[in-house]
Amino acid sequence: MGKTAPHCLLLLLYLSGLVRCSAAFLFWTAMVEIGYLNNNNETVDKYCECGVFGRNSPVEKASGIVTLPLGDPKGCGPDPIYNRNFSSPPWIALVKRGNCTFSEKISAAKRQGAAGVVVYNVDGSGNSTTHMAHSDASDIVAIMIGNTKGMELVRLVKNGTDVQMLIEPGSPHGPWMDTYWLYFLSIAFFIVTAASIAYFVFISANRLYSLSVHRRSEKRLKLEAKKAIKRLQVRTLKREDEETTSDSHMCAVCIESYKPGEVVTVLTCDHIFHKTCIEPWLLERRTCPMCKCDILKALGVEEETKESGSGNSSPDVTVITVAGGETLYEVPLTDPMSPDPQRQQHRYDNTAFEGDSQAMRG
Ligand SMILES: [Zn+2]
Ligand SMILES: [Zn+2]
Repeated sequence: MGKTAPHCLLLLLYLSGLVRCSAAFLFWTAMVEIGYLNNNNETVDKYCECGVFGRNSPVEKASGIVTLPLGDPKGCGPDPIYNRNFSSPPWIALVKRGNCTFSEKISAAKRQGAAGVVVYNVDGSGNSTTHMAHSDASDIVAIMIGNTKGMELVRLVKNGTDVQMLIEPGSPHGPWMDTYWLYFLSIAFFIVTAASIAYFVFISANRLYSLSVHRRSEKRLKLEAKKAIKRLQVRTLKREDEETTSDSHMCAVCIESYKPGEVVTVLTCDHIFHKTCIEPWLLERRTCPMCKCDILKALGVEEETKESGSGNSSPDVTVITVAGGETLYEVPLTDPMSPDPQRQQHRYDNTAFEGDSQAMRG
């Protein structure tokens, strides 16, 4: 997870940066509804999402009778240019783009009491609109519509038709709201999340697996060590034994000298230790504390366990040879698990070797 955290952070930073920079490009479309009576005295209602709110316009409703400037259709100049004012019923100024800034056109209409301003695009621009900026005329609803739509309205109004217009907020648009971007971002988010989860699951499974393998091998080694320990020679020390008479002999595990009557274990390397001291040590480490001799290898337990896994050979027939000085003597191994009491010849109180050791010294 250590590696995925910076990736997630980067993605978050990227997303927040994207949202922040796209806020500047965010724009609202405007729903434009017009209604009028045609030549046959029939009510005509038209409705389209064809306007774009100006960058500085409040995004809210506005309605009124569509009104054109008296002279210049572009509605520029400081003088009153509409034949309506504050006392007229609500009206909406319809002006053409060009000649002066958007702010000037919008301010001129606002000064005369317009409820909103609709700017239509220049000739030949079809239905295209721009996101107009009008920072000096910000507290009036101002939208832009395409030239085609604008000219249609101009013709109607010039024919003397009273066109009622209702402007309503449409929907927000921006690079991050684009379908493509939404698609891309959701896929990217999904991929990053899925990758993080997969990575986490993989790491956890891997860890669990190696832990169980380690536990299993530890368990197996302990079992093998137990087996090997049972095969080691055990002696009860006597008063006349060299180990009890000389101070140079001591158990390397507890650092104490041997006393008569104590039970010692003789490892395959001939090093001797208290039986109670060396057994827990061997269970954990399986090597002689003095010479690091591996008792599993020395007794051939490892190979045998592997073989017995498939072959079921019984360990009670194994005979090991323990080398002591120049004398070689064979120790028949017994299987403590065997129900035969003769085979249960116990090492914990093993007097069978005493004769041998005496003979060795003899
Ligand atoms: Zn000891
Ligand atoms: Zn040793």
